[in-house]
Amino acid sequence: MKAYHEYETVIGLEIHAELNTNTKVFCSCPNRFGAKPNTLCCPVCLGLPGAMPSLNRRAVELTVMAGLALHCEISPISRMDRKQYFYPDLPKGYQISQAEYPICKNGYLDITVDGECRRIRIQRIHLEEDAGKLIHTETQTLVDYNRSGVPLIEIVSEADLRSGREAAEYMRELRAVLREAGISDCKMQEGSMRCDVNLSIRRRGETALGERTEIKNLNSFAFAEKAIAYESQRQIALLERGERVTRETRRFAVSSGTTEVMRQKESAQDYRFLPEPDIPPFSISRELVETLRKTLPESRENKRARLLKQYDLTEQETAILLSADGLSVYFENVVKETSYPKIALNLILTDLLRLQTGETFSSSVSEKSLAEIATMAGQGEINRTTAKQLLIRLANGENGSPREIAKRENLLQIQDEEIIRAWVSEVLNEEERAVRDYFGGKTNAIRALQGKLMAKSRGRANPELAERLLKDTLDGRRKETDKHV
Ligand code: ZN
Ligand code: MN
Repeated sequence: MKAYHEYETVIGLEIHAELNTNTKVFCSCPNRFGAKPNTLCCPVCLGLPGAMPSLNRRAVELTVMAGLALHCEISPISRMDRKQYFYPDLPKGYQISQAEYPICKNGYLDITVDGECRRIRIQRIHLEEDAGKLIHTETQTLVDYNRSGVPLIEIVSEADLRSGREAAEYMRELRAVLREAGISDCKMQEGSMRCDVNLSIRRRGETALGERTEIKNLNSFAFAEKAIAYESQRQIALLERGERVTRETRRFAVSSGTTEVMRQKESAQDYRFLPEPDIPPFSISRELVETLRKTLPESRENKRARLLKQYDLTEQETAILLSADGLSVYFENVVKETSYPKIALNLILTDLLRLQTGETFSSSVSEKSLAEIATMAGQGEINRTTAKQLLIRLANGENGSPREIAKRENLLQIQDEEIIRAWVSEVLNEEERAVRDYFGGKTNAIRALQGKLMAKSRGRANPELAERLLKDTLDGRRKETDKHV
């Protein structure tokens, strides 16, 4: 439909990520996922009267680190506030959060979509506490307060995103930044990273924002992308029919792939923010900021540019190396141990990654072993198929170095001309037809002959050598035939 191209989707994201602290943000209960319900609680995180919160210094530090990794300004003075609303997962009747004085402001995150780099501005990052978790059964609703008081950062982007794909890429990149710096593990399936989407539609060229809806609690990149696609079409259809978008909170229904109304926002909800009286405003010194800056890993922008240049990689190869935690570090360690970086890269990208699942790269093939396989392949001791076989054997936990396994299993490539020549004459005798084709001008027939020879050697013959010896022998015979003519 033509009309869709006349509109632009305007998206801002609010991402909540749980911080990697040992204890909760205002008490010393453990910050841990998966414990028995309501076993990690105390009067503070249960909001019992008279309980006094005290601010976890590490949570503040991790928030500052998130700000630095996302190019934010760090406020020298900050404050906690009470955000008041009623919900059964919030035992105090208010959430301790930050309103006017967030720890971080005015940052950005660069993303690449379809080869185009886009800078997404980050309005603010603030520290707050998580709520408990409601578990709905057929007949009742249960509350688990283990998560109550777990430190969260809320990262609020400007409305700079324009499509579901951009939003998903922003989430992916953000998660990589937070994980690599050890700020959050961002496990979406455990709820330690959650995303709220604010979305509105306007005609292309307009600058004013249209009325927006909010889609709450998306817990996967794919769902966020689908929810955005659906919601954007829904709003366009409303406008096309001459109707209006109403301000409301919606949820994504996984089964239907649609968004549905959760609650209408008649007027903006009033949270009656007030300064948290039990936690004094706190300062963040320049010294602390600089100390924390030093603990951050190399930024992803730097690393991307460096990998491209230092190892002469393509954009796509670099993107893959940066897509799983620890993968680029693994690659760089491998390359230190072999003079065949391209072969190593190829083994990692096409074979090793296929053997693994999950967001964090881990492999039972050590960096040293992978480097040894690359070296053996580079020096012609093994061919590509054997290299892959060795990888699989090591990944399955087989003992020994690649060279030991290759020797033990008789996988080393055969480079001995005598042996290969013997196979050449066998093949030429057996494959009369291919030989005739070759002499008849179909030079491609040599591929078939080479294939037969490789099969005879059970994949161990050096393929280049096999091809050369086949060609030499055939051309030698042709000369003999020529003489007789
Ligand atoms: Zn507690
Ligand atoms: Mn929040």
